[in-house]
Amino acid sequence: MKSGQDNKSGLNRRDFLKIGLAGTASAMLSGSVISEAAQYYAAAEPFVFPNPVFKTLGRTGMKITVVSFGAMLTPEPEVIKIAFDNGVNYVDTARRYMGGKNEEIVGKALKGRRDKIFVATKTQPTSRTKEDIFKDVETSLKALQTDYVDVIQLHNLTDKERVFIPETREALLKLREQGKVRFFGVTTHTKQAEVVNALVDDKDRFFDTALVKFNFQSDKELLDAVARAAAANIGIIAMKTQMGGYTTEAMGKISPHQAALKWALQNRNITAAIPGMRNISELKEDIAVMGMSFSYADERILKQYSASVRSYYCDLCGKCEGTCPLGVQISTVNRSLMYAEGYKNGELALSTYREIPVSASATACLDCSACVAKCVNGLDIASKMDRARKILA
Ligand code: SF4
Ligand code: SF4
Repeated sequence: MKSGQDNKSGLNRRDFLKIGLAGTASAMLSGSVISEAAQYYAAAEPFVFPNPVFKTLGRTGMKITVVSFGAMLTPEPEVIKIAFDNGVNYVDTARRYMGGKNEEIVGKALKGRRDKIFVATKTQPTSRTKEDIFKDVETSLKALQTDYVDVIQLHNLTDKERVFIPETREALLKLREQGKVRFFGVTTHTKQAEVVNALVDDKDRFFDTALVKFNFQSDKELLDAVARAAAANIGIIAMKTQMGGYTTEAMGKISPHQAALKWALQNRNITAAIPGMRNISELKEDIAVMGMSFSYADERILKQYSASVRSYYCDLCGKCEGTCPLGVQISTVNRSLMYAEGYKNGELALSTYREIPVSASATACLDCSACVAKCVNGLDIASKMDRARKILA
């Protein structure tokens, strides 16, 4: 997530497709990841990883490392193996990452270590029915080369409706009865407070965990929802701790990455974060945060970073969506753009964008004479949609 591109440097559709068609930016890094791993193993004095720090993930009782492994962008199992061999004991993947390949990469890293590692994956965002959920989990188990996953998460809830679908719950219960999944979770980027509060207000308290976008720009509504959930013993894991992971000229050589991770982990209601780690350098940078405290210097770094990306960073809150007469899924369009320009991950950007029906994508804006959608943070929505259409549509 760290090697984003200066937004002003102008990734155009041609450049972008080069990334997308090559597979992913991560795939392009693959060769260097392998040689980096070889150097790591051959080094006379390998990097000394800190002692892992553990916290309990709500009522699951699982004691997981506070810096856990977000595998979404990782092109080779070697990086994940090194993390596991140095104490990291929780890995998060998803059925849809890298068109299904990401679970296979995680599966290879798990070989010989499965009993020491907690594995979380996700159903497809469109899955609702029993058949959908069964199929997703069976496919995941095969790709991960395991008999069970520790946490199965409903992927990308955009409001509370999916928390309560009876058929989905029946499928999850059946899978647990069969020993194929242990705990149930959800993930969310949009209307997060609504989703997390629904987990707490649910009379059955069906879900055990929530994976939320949580960073130093998160608003009070989300902080309060997360506090309620933690008090209800629902385990909360932070993702997207980096406010988009953009690289900006204003930051010079200073990386806000560790500061942002520390900010998320200092919150007592957060059990762990799952930064995306594509190579060993990123792994070292992230793992080093375990045991560190958030400092005044970190606060200054985050202020500077936040000021430098404020004009284009979308919080994905979804609050603008009711103001667009054509029902454009503005937050998902902007998330796709963030994957392209911040994470520089072409495949993820395109696959996310393609999940939006054309009638609710940035293409719909072509039928609109003037943009009346209002962003609560003052973003220029019309220009974001224009940009998305240029590089993704
Ligand atoms: S231009 Fe703005 S108001 Fe019009 S469809 Fe697009 S997002 Fe909605
Ligand atoms: S454009 Fe603004 S209101 Fe819409 S999701 Fe992004 S931050 Fe929220």
